[in-house]
Formats: sequence, structure tokens, C-alpha cells
Amino acid sequence: MLDRPQHTPVDPSLDPFALAKALSGFHFIDGGYVPGRNGATFAVVNPATGIEVARAAEGDAADVDAAVQSAAKAQKAWAKVPARKRGAMVHACAALLKDHVEELSRLIALETGKALRTESRVEAGVVADVFEFFGGLGSELKGESVPFAPNVLSVTVREPLGVVGAIIPWNVPMLLMALKVAPALVAGNAVVVKSAEEAPLAVLRICELMNRVLPPGVFNMVSGYGPECGAPLVEHPLVRKVTFTGSVETGKIVARAAANKLIPVTLELGGKSPMIVFADCDFDKTVSGALTSMRFTRQGQSCTAASRIYVERPIFDRFVTAMKTAVDAMVMGDPLDEKTDIGTIVSQDQLAKVRGFIEEGTATAGATAHVCSAMPSDPALKKGLFIQPVIFTGLGPDSRLVREEIFGPVTVMAPFDDAEAVLAEANDSEYGLAASLWTNNLKVGLDLAHRLEAGLVQINQNLVVQANLSYGGVKSSGLGKEASLEAMLEHFTHKKTIMVNMG
Ligand code: ADP
Repeated sequence: MLDRPQHTPVDPSLDPFALAKALSGFHFIDGGYVPGRNGATFAVVNPATGIEVARAAEGDAADVDAAVQSAAKAQKAWAKVPARKRGAMVHACAALLKDHVEELSRLIALETGKALRTESRVEAGVVADVFEFFGGLGSELKGESVPFAPNVLSVTVREPLGVVGAIIPWNVPMLLMALKVAPALVAGNAVVVKSAEEAPLAVLRICELMNRVLPPGVFNMVSGYGPECGAPLVEHPLVRKVTFTGSVETGKIVARAAANKLIPVTLELGGKSPMIVFADCDFDKTVSGALTSMRFTRQGQSCTAASRIYVERPIFDRFVTAMKTAVDAMVMGDPLDEKTDIGTIVSQDQLAKVRGFIEEGTATAGATAHVCSAMPSDPALKKGLFIQPVIFTGLGPDSRLVREEIFGPVTVMAPFDDAEAVLAEANDSEYGLAASLWTNNLKVGLDLAHRLEAGLVQINQNLVVQANLSYGGVKSSGLGKEASLEAMLEHFTHKKTIMVNMG
């Protein structure tokens, strides 16, 4: 196994401020940190204070070209490494990442505002798990033998696609990157990741750590803005596959650009995930399930957030009250403080968008905004992008808050009387990413699970994406699956047929 310590701008550090500063201004290309070719940088801001903590390299087409050229060169040799050995190297990356969980957790908390204890540390742990999972799948890259004719040996083999361009968002950047990079590498591709503008640091650090094990050029990373840095990656002639997580609008732009080159694209887009609660559920478990389903500890910044909660009428009022009480008990504060349950929104733009939805909901006739929890009192956080979670009741099905993805700590609750009616309401959405059902009547639960238009339906739980379980939406929520063996085979390889006429 290779062990090639990188030139590291600073020693591993649990001080995220020092690490952020030291990581400033770099892409990671061809096995090393490199500054952007044009010298331009943009600010990385701590959303808890509004203070700049780092500068990120503002990549353009020239940086992208350097990264893709390096990946294309490295991929040829990488594809020849036996699949199990590639897997073993990815597995070794997982071990290295486990040693750095604390450092990565603090860095991601600093740049995204996600609370260290409830979110950032969890994400860093899951990232290592994803690399470990895919690292074990090298020998599953199998083909088939096909019964064509007795004298003709007909087989299929799985081949890598070449250079994969991976574009990631800011909400769970380390995990979403891992879901793309791990299977792509094990399958024998080389990768260029374009990080999200708001959160370029922790993923850059992961890229460097993994390059201590991987051959140079196999895994590269560029930072920059979407049109200037993401678009050239999609359009680059040597990029043979694009995998993207982000908004529906940008996903369509990416899909159109990929279509121009006739290359495959995987899209993980938005969601407006319904949670359906029947009166026979385990009440307390379901209330606490609603809190995790809505991802309140991530300020609701999740595509699978249960942002529409339908509760059977007999328990509706009691459920709303219990949920409000439970969210009230959550502590908003400094993301790096172990006491904090809920951190900040990631950026000013996102905050303005969420506030717009809250104002609109509050101004809607008949609606009630149940504002929860308390703003932090620490004066050092007065410029922080905090927002109190809001539970809305009394909004009709045509409200923008019911139909559009808010990506903030805002959920809409409505009572229902009839399973068929709630199913119709749940399916009346442009999106189809995830859904959850809460009932002790498995007959009803399974029937609805089959008829809900969603890529992932869970009964009596609402876990986030899990390694080994295919994840991905229908309708405007995306194209293709991630996180599983099938996803690796379908989206990061192509099947070649070889026939031998044996006479
Ligand atoms: P979000 O609302 O999460 O910022 P976006 O879809 O705009 O959603 O961003 C997700 C990722 O897509 C980011 O890394 C962003 O820089 C990138 N991106 C934005 N515009 C483009 C584009 N035209 N081509 C490629 N990538 C883009």
C-alpha cells in the first residue's frame, strides 16, 4: 500500500480556524495542493459570526482543464490496478479518514454552521463508513456469461467510464462527495470534484488525506463558482460522466450540457418529503421521529427533510403541541459548542430565501406560525445566520410552503381523515425523493409504501442515506441511484460484450 504523506499546509489540527486559514487558496490537482492559475480567491465565511475564515481558490476553465488532464492520464493506470486492490486502497482511505474524524468535524462545522455534536461529527463518521463500504466491493465488478451458441463464448465485462466529474452542494458536502467518489474510484474511474462555494474546505482536506494513499491524479478537486468552474467541468471533452447533487434548476442545466456531449448523468435533486402519521402510531417515538425526519439539527437543510407532515385528525393538535415542545427544548448556538443542538443557516442568500417563505406563510390568512426554540444570547453570535424553527399549521395545499422546497427549519403540518386522501395529497408534488409512514398497521403502511411516489419510503423510521441501500428520487427529484452496489455498477461502469468463436 502506498503511504505518501503530502506537503500539508499545517499539521493536522483540531483548531478549525488555523486549518481553514492554511487550506486557503488551493485546489488539489495531480497529487498536490496547487493555487488557482488566475490567482483569484473568494471568501469562506463562518456563518455563526459573519467573519471570513479562509479564501478559496476561484477556479476557472484552466484549473478544470489541468485537473481533468491529470485525471485522464492517471485513470489509464488506475483502471489496470486489480479491482480488489483498488478497493483495498479506498478502504485504506476510510481508515485514514477515521483518524481525522474530529478534525474534519470541526472544519465542516466552521464552514457550514452545522452543530458539531448533532450533525458535523455524525457526517464525518458516515463518510468513513461509505468509503469502507465501497472499498469492499472491488470484486463485485463482475460480468456475465451469456448463452449465445455452444461454440461461441459470450461474456460481458464491466469497464470504467473514464474521468468522472462530480459536482456537490454545501449541505452535507463530505457525505455527498463520498457517495460519488468512492464507487467511481473502486470501479476504476478517476474523479474531478467541484466543491460547493459555501463549503470548500473539509472536502479539500479529505481529498488531500486520500491522496496519501491513492496514486496522484486519480482524485482531484477544484473550487469555484458554478458557471465559471462547474460548467467547464461538465463540458470538458475528456469528462465521460457527470454526477451532480444540487437544485432542480442547476440539475437541468447540467443535464442539458451532458446531453450535448451524449454522456451519462446522475442527478440527485430536491425533495418535498411527506411524513404521514396515523393515530395508531407510537406517539412519543413518532414525535421524536418527526424531529429527526425534519432534520431540525441541520436547520432543515436536507433534501429528505419531512417538510410536509400529515397527521391523522384525532391526534393532530396533540402532535403539533408535542412537536413544538420538543423543538423548543433544542438549543440554538455556536456550532462548535458541544451544548448546541441547532447551528446556523449556511449563507445570507439562503437565510433571505427561508425568511421569505416564513413571511409569506405568516401573512397567509388562516395560517399559524408556531415559532420554536430561542435565538442564542451570546453577543459574539449576533451576526450569526440563526433562524428559529417554525411549524406552520392552517396552510392550504396550494401554498408555496407546501409545494416548494424551503431548505430551512420550516415544516408544514396538516390533519387528514382518510388514507386515500392523504396519499393523493402526498403524491401531489413535483418531487419524489423520500417519504415516511408512521403506523402500527403494517397492512396500511405497506399498501401506501407501494403507492407513494418516492425513491425511498420508510415505515416507523426516517434515517438519512445509508451505505448499501439505493438512494435517489423520481419525478423532479432526480435521475439514477447512489449509495449501493447496483448504483456503482449502473452509474460508474459500462458493460462490454465480448464474443469468442471457438470454431
Ligand atoms: P444550491 O442551491 O445547493 O447552491 P446549486 O444547484 O446552485 O444549488 O449548486 C449545487 C452545485 O452546483 C454547486 O457546487 C454549484 O457551484 C454548482 N453549479 C451551479 N451552477 C452550475 C452550472 N451551471 N454548471 C455546473 N455546476 C453548477
